[in-house]
Amino acid sequence: MNYFPAFFDLSAQKVLIVGGGEVALRKLTLLERSGAKITVVAAEILPEFRERAAAGRITTVIREFIPDDLDGARLVIVATSRRAVNRWIASLSEARGIPVNVVDDREASRFIVPALIDRGPVLVAISTGGTSPVLARRLRERLEALIPKRFGELSLWLQALRRTARRRLRDTGARRRYFEQIVDGAAARRFVEGDTHGAQSLAQQLLARSSGSPRESGEVTLVGAGPGDPELLTLKALRALQDADVILHDRLVPPAVLDMARRDARRICVGKAAGSIGLTQAEINALLIEHAGQGMRVVRLKGGDPFIFGRGGEELEALLKAQIRFSVIPGITAAAGCAAYAGIPLTHRDHAHSVAFVTGHQDSDGREPDYQALAKPGITAVFYMGLARVEHIAEQFVRHGAPETLPAALIAQGTLENQRVITGTLATIAEAAARARLESPTLLVVGEVVSLHDSLAWFNPTPQLEASQSA
Ligand code: SAH
Repeated sequence: MNYFPAFFDLSAQKVLIVGGGEVALRKLTLLERSGAKITVVAAEILPEFRERAAAGRITTVIREFIPDDLDGARLVIVATSRRAVNRWIASLSEARGIPVNVVDDREASRFIVPALIDRGPVLVAISTGGTSPVLARRLRERLEALIPKRFGELSLWLQALRRTARRRLRDTGARRRYFEQIVDGAAARRFVEGDTHGAQSLAQQLLARSSGSPRESGEVTLVGAGPGDPELLTLKALRALQDADVILHDRLVPPAVLDMARRDARRICVGKAAGSIGLTQAEINALLIEHAGQGMRVVRLKGGDPFIFGRGGEELEALLKAQIRFSVIPGITAAAGCAAYAGIPLTHRDHAHSVAFVTGHQDSDGREPDYQALAKPGITAVFYMGLARVEHIAEQFVRHGAPETLPAALIAQGTLENQRVITGTLATIAEAAARARLESPTLLVVGEVVSLHDSLAWFNPTPQLEASQSA
């Protein structure tokens, strides 16, 4: 960051403009709105300056600049047509520690003036650090289109609502939720569309509802974070993350996803990565209930989809028992995400007409998946948590009648920058996996469709690795 952004309160402060032409006039027009006491010094000035001076809005001094003009100035804008003069005035200002801007001379300027979107009192200032005014202008045009014209009025209306809300809603969390409902919902929409009355009555209804049910309104949202690439979050998941008071997440959820949550939301890692000692399921359930019971909006964030090997069902049953409101936001499960990023269509008219999501983790009672069914032609089998048992799984397929040549793939860190895909057959995949030293999370895909990877793979974040390790 080459410049420090700040908004300067200039009301009743002396600001000096040196120059009396078009450029100086443009700066004057901008500065006038700040309520500064403006003095314009120039040997010649445009009639617009004279009119303003006559109306008592500015002071004009019709002569060449002298150093004493800087006395008492808090800010200086230099806009004469002579570069050397501009620079001399700039160096005098610098020597006195007065921030100076020389129009169109960034080197001589201590501060620069940003492109502005003015929805007073809301101001958006855009700077490209002086690199490209055109880019700044384009960006401004886009944002202009995005920010409703009545945005400034909206902010003033919200300020007025704050006074009532402070009286009626004592709890700061409840107050924030109330304003979020207004800003995100129909009330603000009506307001910016010009229906002030409609907006007002909606806001009143919301306030009555919010103050009527203090604290008991805690809830849990079970949210699927997707397989890793943060851009695979759903819009709903993003909204839930930005609304959450507290987030209980698995270790599998990447930091880039957590970064999307509201900054002051509490984040609690409850572990649950294979092989780590996280909290037990009962402890996680208890935490969910405890936080929601305190009236918080709790997001339970899980890798992939919460209902696919995520124990989401068990957590909901516990919430149901504790009479806590809940909802579920699905996520892209690892099978869908990894297959897409590996160029392996899970179904295909010529290769597979069904898909099975299978756990590679052995039950505590030793139960095995139905390999008889999985080994049949025309099925794609996707094993979650199967990395440690690849050899065993491949053997079971062969034992139940699948050909040794049936293609299989392992996808590690799927959808992430360091994704790796190892392909082989039932006969070779275990050894290939061992050679590649894959690390979890890794997904095993068994079926004809794997053969399409060679031609359809498109995601190549680390091409040199991929080339040497695809078997
Ligand atoms: N609910 C999750 C699955 C949790 S089980 C989902 O729907 O995706 C954890 C297993 O998911 C891991 O052992 C691994 O097999 C798989 N997995 C999750 N993310 C993965 C990723 N980015 N790449 C490969 N496998 C992944």
